[in-house]
Amino acid sequence: MEIQKIAKEIHENSPLVDAHLDLGAIVYEGKRRGETRVIEEHFLGPFKAAGIKLVVGAIFVDDIYLPEKALRVAINQVEDVLEEIEESSDLMLVTDGGSLEACLEGDRIGIILSLEGADPLYDDLDLLKVFYRLGVRGLGLTWSRRNSAADGSFFSPRVQGKVGGLTPFGVALIREAEALGMFLDYSHLNDEGFLDAVAFSEKPFIFSHSNSRALHPSMRNISHEMMEVLKARGGVIGMNGVRSLISDERERHTIACFADHFEDTLKLTGYDHVGLGLDLCNLIMPRAYPVDLLEDHGQVILITEELLRRGHRAADLEKILGGSFLRFFQKHWEL
Ligand SMILES: [Zn+2]
Repeated sequence: MEIQKIAKEIHENSPLVDAHLDLGAIVYEGKRRGETRVIEEHFLGPFKAAGIKLVVGAIFVDDIYLPEKALRVAINQVEDVLEEIEESSDLMLVTDGGSLEACLEGDRIGIILSLEGADPLYDDLDLLKVFYRLGVRGLGLTWSRRNSAADGSFFSPRVQGKVGGLTPFGVALIREAEALGMFLDYSHLNDEGFLDAVAFSEKPFIFSHSNSRALHPSMRNISHEMMEVLKARGGVIGMNGVRSLISDERERHTIACFADHFEDTLKLTGYDHVGLGLDLCNLIMPRAYPVDLLEDHGQVILITEELLRRGHRAADLEKILGGSFLRFFQKHWEL
């Protein structure tokens, strides 16, 4: 059977998961420009075309809102996404094993909410419970900047003094998150913080949207040693379609080079620990030279085709496209 046909069948028959999409910021900004039904307008068509079944929607607060407006913007983002889910007959919120199962058995596309950076909490541990009660189930300690919990990893080197690991607040935060039943996401955390987080936490974790540092030495990407820790803990890494995390060279912003990141990671972790964390952000970061390699989720099939051409089997690609993250979340909620 020809490659395109096999790829199409995989996308039609197996549920896809994108472990990182900035839905909070995208819907928040869209609504304030006067748009309505932002998720349906921009994502529903491509979701359906690709076979996307589950998305981790990030609550991300831009630098311009820090520090005073961080909490207000984050709460508004949660409300905005919840409102759009309520308005839509195609979307549903996933917060536990039961709702994940209902999502998988039904026609709706599930959204799991996750905080991308603890900045909205400042140093108030109790606020994490408030976000949990609002439906947020994931926590990334930092974005690519310092906050009360930890230091973030920058995309490219910056002039700065010594960076640190987790603060006492950061340690308390991961313990509280695990006690509440939230999953932890270390994608933007710096290396020192990551080692601390692994030492002070117990459960499987994810890197929701990062690539291989061996192929592109951005600190936002993950070293082979970190991949080994991830595998030993039973976590999953979502491969990131942002061009600057694939390569610094424009001629390497190709599906083939993106596929190289998948393959390098697979060598260390195997298929059960690799997924998608595409981080599509052209909408909130419009640039003359696009931030994203893929125009939309509909183009995920190009990666599937490329990996099929390289000899990966359909059953293994189903894991990468969604199975690995689904199993992570099912196990997280102990279905
Ligand atoms: Zn991010």
